[in-house]
Amino acid sequence: DLILVSGASGFIASHTAKQFLEQGYRVRGTVRSEAKGEYLKGIFKGLGEFEYTLVDDITKDGVFDEAVKGVDGVAHLASPFYTDGVKDPQELIGPAVKGTTGILKSIQKNNPGVKRVVITSSVASIMSVASKKPPVVYTEEDWNEDAIPHVEKNGLESTGAFAYQASKTMAEKALWKFIEDEKPSWDAVAINPPLVLGEVIHQVDSPEKLNTSVAYFWQWATGKKSESDLPGPMGNWVDVKDVAQAHINALTTESASGQRFITGAGYLVGQAFVDIIHKKFPDAKNIPVGKPGEYEEVTKGMNLFNGEKATKVLGIKYKSLEDSTTEMGESLFKRFGKQ
Ligand code: NDP
Repeated sequence: DLILVSGASGFIASHTAKQFLEQGYRVRGTVRSEAKGEYLKGIFKGLGEFEYTLVDDITKDGVFDEAVKGVDGVAHLASPFYTDGVKDPQELIGPAVKGTTGILKSIQKNNPGVKRVVITSSVASIMSVASKKPPVVYTEEDWNEDAIPHVEKNGLESTGAFAYQASKTMAEKALWKFIEDEKPSWDAVAINPPLVLGEVIHQVDSPEKLNTSVAYFWQWATGKKSESDLPGPMGNWVDVKDVAQAHINALTTESASGQRFITGAGYLVGQAFVDIIHKKFPDAKNIPVGKPGEYEEVTKGMNLFNGEKATKVLGIKYKSLEDSTTEMGESLFKRFGKQ
């Protein structure tokens, strides 16, 4: 089978494309530049049949029309993920929503024989951090009730975090609305990860250009955090290879049809992060020590995104934070050195 992976040059999508190849699929990736496409060809050499196609502006009508031709399944990951320096929420909402509806329309127009479409949503579409006081255990039943009203009310004054959350919530809602309105012969699945960590394989020229979730780790791993940042409740996390596998299993598991899946491995606390950095990378510089091993207490006040359904239905067994952080650290220190 041939699978289309949009935004293949990204952190999660590069792993998703790689795992599809490793598991015997042919992959067509969309990228924004030839250089990124060639980079992927390089790292996928020997793994199977990979081709790329240029799709630069996902807000343009019909931009996926050619890319979807002849594919059996689609994994749509291309979407902006940043929260710093957002001047207008539309920077995020435009590509998130139009990218999603655009790829769905192109499929319906040029390849309605496709079997299934998997869209990368987020726990950003699930959590309501303004109106629900932690600790909350979130499940797939929950929808973000805060972000869209925040953006409607605050416009250009919206916070970057709410702008991003609104972009993901609106994009996922657009997916389910499309399915309801158009009743295509194919079906869809949404994957909703929290903060994604793990080995970096995609092209990143400098630490400043790291994707948002890995950039958080880089701050902890390069002495930008201090004792006062600990214990440091950060949210929930999941390993990138588990998220990639969830996309693959979501395309192939019949009973996943029409559902959303939180892929979450549990709480992420800065203290746990620094404990692992000290253990695995003892020569990393200026890493705060805090109270090693003491992060249980702080999790009691944190929200949890329950990832059990992805285990039950998609068979995802979550990697440990130590393994994920070790793979992430090794891949980054190899590229950028210890700073
Ligand atoms: P990356 O920033 O590494 O990847 C984003 C991908 O989308 C890149 O291929 C990027 O292209 C492409 N892209 C971004 N903006 C545009 C645009 N305006 N037009 C066309 N392409 C665009 O991030 P991730 O891998 O982390 O994110 C992938 C998906 O996962 C996103 O949908 C994100 O919302 C979602 N997600 C991520 C989480 C995380 O913690 N990382 C958590 C939950 C969900 P280019 O390489 O050219 O910049």
